[in-house]
Amino acid sequence: MLGSTGSIGTQTLDVVRQHPDLFEVALLVANNSSERLIEQTLEFHPATIVITNPEKYREVSEGLGGTEVEVLCGMEAVCDRVCAPDVDIVLAAMVGFSGLRPTLSAIAAGKPIALANKETLVAAGSIVMKAAHDHQVPILPVDSEHSAIFQCLQGAGNNRLCKIHLTASGGPFRTWSRERIAAAKASDALKHPNWDMGAKITIDSATMMNKGLEVIEATWLFDVAPENIKVVVHPQSIIHSMVEFEDGAVLAQMGHPDMRQPIQYALGYPARLSLNNKKLDFASIGMMTFENPDVDRFPCLGLAFEAISKGGNMPCILNAANEEAVAAYLRSSIGFYDIPDIIAACMSRVPFLPTPTVDDIFDTNAAARQAAAQILCR
Ligand code: NDP
Ligand code: MG
Repeated sequence: MLGSTGSIGTQTLDVVRQHPDLFEVALLVANNSSERLIEQTLEFHPATIVITNPEKYREVSEGLGGTEVEVLCGMEAVCDRVCAPDVDIVLAAMVGFSGLRPTLSAIAAGKPIALANKETLVAAGSIVMKAAHDHQVPILPVDSEHSAIFQCLQGAGNNRLCKIHLTASGGPFRTWSRERIAAAKASDALKHPNWDMGAKITIDSATMMNKGLEVIEATWLFDVAPENIKVVVHPQSIIHSMVEFEDGAVLAQMGHPDMRQPIQYALGYPARLSLNNKKLDFASIGMMTFENPDVDRFPCLGLAFEAISKGGNMPCILNAANEEAVAAYLRSSIGFYDIPDIIAACMSRVPFLPTPTVDDIFDTNAAARQAAAQILCR
């Protein structure tokens, strides 16, 4: 489990807790949350854990003194241990570009990936998908929309899906005017109406960059052109996404917002396992509504479509600039609409490469962060 201490990581451990006969934790990875990592280790008894931040290593290893667990430190150790023989499937739930290297290592070792870490596919979609194809490794989506699409495609046989309807909650600013959004603070943006998630993705939901990243993720996972992905705002978050076939039939996957369902589907696939979640009662829901997204108030969505239409390293530039801008917004160093402005500036400044190699992707990521940092310094 890459990112065991985060929102997805802790919900995944809840799934494991409910099915101790099916799942055993082999490896836990975290960055800073030493106390939580120690607690998780004492409960789930993995053979190995890795804390990537070297400053936290001593605390974790002392906290686990007297136990059998192997405690390691750093990203090299993560990339090595995801390939261990006792690992059957890797849950990729680190946040941001940092998830790319260990995910590529796991794929090269033939490990199936349960993918939450969408930035990996956004930054390096062509490389990750080719590696998965070459090593015959399945990429099982955990992101709720992509899990919904994947679930709707079960049994579709050779019938090609012609359109994806990607649902979006609209985030906390869905009904706000542009002026009010412009003045919004990170604390306002962190109040998501339907989902309890890590800080970075919660800001991405407020800017709707999250939906943009998901459009890019969907193009790679389902081989659909961006023009055939339609984003639809559905504030109740009951329909998690839909697929449309040639005859106009549309299939939807529904449920109350609870990430444990898509997590569990990826880990148990193709089996569906029991889950102690809230079940749907349509009469009490009463009504589901749909509206078009507003790219004027949420320009990040338009930037993401632009990046994937351009292709090459452009989505990687978009992603890196977004990570830097979101971090600055969380520090209260910039305003809400500085986020899309910084991303747009980086997209025009960082050299475009139509067919990037893995090394090009790492270089692009660094160059885009540097370009963003220069803008932030001004
Ligand atoms: P969180 O911020 O809650 O958790 C991130 C996890 O990654 C933590 O365990 C963190 O460790 C770890 N981590 C971060 N950086 C590093 C690093 N450099 N090395 C090792 N570990 C690291 O994020 P979420 O769980 O919300 O999201 C994780 C991913 O899943 C993101 O890509 C997000 O877009 C995606 N996702 C999340 C959803 C959600 O509902 N939360 C829904 C769909 C997708 P530590 O705690 O020690 O800092
Ligand atoms: Mg999602």
